[in-house]
Amino acid sequence: MIAKRANKIDSSGIRKVFDLAVNMNNPINLSIGQPDFDVPEPVKEAAINAIKNGFNSYTPTQGTEEFRDCVRAYLENKNRIKNHLSDSIMITSGVSGGLFLAMMSLVNPGDEVIFSDPYFVMYKHHVNMLGGVPVYVDTYPDFKLTAERIEPCISAKTKLLIVNSPSNPTGAVYSNEDVIEIADLCNEKNIFVLTDEIYSSFCYDDPFESIFPYVENGMLLEGFSKSHGMTGWRVGYAVGPEELIQTMNKIQQYTFVCAPSIAQKAGITALEHNMDEEINAYRRKRDLIYNGLKDKFELEKPGGAFYAFVRAPDDNGASFVEKAIAKNLLIIPGSVFSERDSHFRISYAADDQVIKRGIDVLLSIM
Ligand code: PLP
Repeated sequence: MIAKRANKIDSSGIRKVFDLAVNMNNPINLSIGQPDFDVPEPVKEAAINAIKNGFNSYTPTQGTEEFRDCVRAYLENKNRIKNHLSDSIMITSGVSGGLFLAMMSLVNPGDEVIFSDPYFVMYKHHVNMLGGVPVYVDTYPDFKLTAERIEPCISAKTKLLIVNSPSNPTGAVYSNEDVIEIADLCNEKNIFVLTDEIYSSFCYDDPFESIFPYVENGMLLEGFSKSHGMTGWRVGYAVGPEELIQTMNKIQQYTFVCAPSIAQKAGITALEHNMDEEINAYRRKRDLIYNGLKDKFELEKPGGAFYAFVRAPDDNGASFVEKAIAKNLLIIPGSVFSERDSHFRISYAADDQVIKRGIDVLLSIM
């Protein structure tokens, strides 16, 4: 009954973890991919007002003009669309929506799509579902995607490169030199660059460096799920060449239709809302997890996002995660995000006390 394309998606890795977790009672949960802070009050109020004022209908497919103008002004102000000022903007149903529309618009069967391993799982599944071929750049042990590592992965079939900095699941953040070198390589080889910047506000040591201003052909994807704790509101945006945005809009028209109207109104308030306090708290959480684990475990200090990707004893992520789950700690084996199974992912998007209890368990089973 089920179409072949759907069978190309394999969710067995994460399902196995949830199967193991099903009997956990009030687990120490360091597996979650969303911030533990709530949506800021003014953003909630903007949404409530939108509902009360009857802003409850479809919006234009590409999003409201008001919101798109605000997104453009915000990105310009942050210098993130330098050299792309004539690009178009559309509002998407989260970064996932943008990613899906972009892949649908760009990837032909047989096209190769390059991204780092470890990777955000959705990339692999989108590419597979469309009949494309994922090409993994092995970035162990420091998780940096570099031009030098990418170059041998390029072939005549390469269609695009996905960049995700700060990265899920590793927390790696690419430097200005890294992104310029990658952009130069892609410009020279005529490779389209899709940059997923959903964690851009979670940069703890250095300012965020976007690759977007340096690439000739590319698309920037960003959203509010992580930055403002708005995962359930399904709102994000895509910036890219007019032809691509038009195509994505065409597909959006017959799939998502539009991003939620209410979230679009609230997004305007979110763009204006200062999140420094939350980000500073996350920097402290990053320090807590890194300092708690670094003497006993092999791990890179994450520069951003809210994850650490830690090497498991005996390079066996699955068996280590089973031991953690037996002690009521929920973490995710690296194989969910990688072709290897030597690591595990910890999310520190949790209360400090929960993080501390998690560290204690990890040290006890080391
Ligand atoms: N990109 C990355 C790297 C993510 O980690 C996530 C969520 O975990 C997403 C995109 C999807 O975010 P959204 O909620 O905006 O669809």
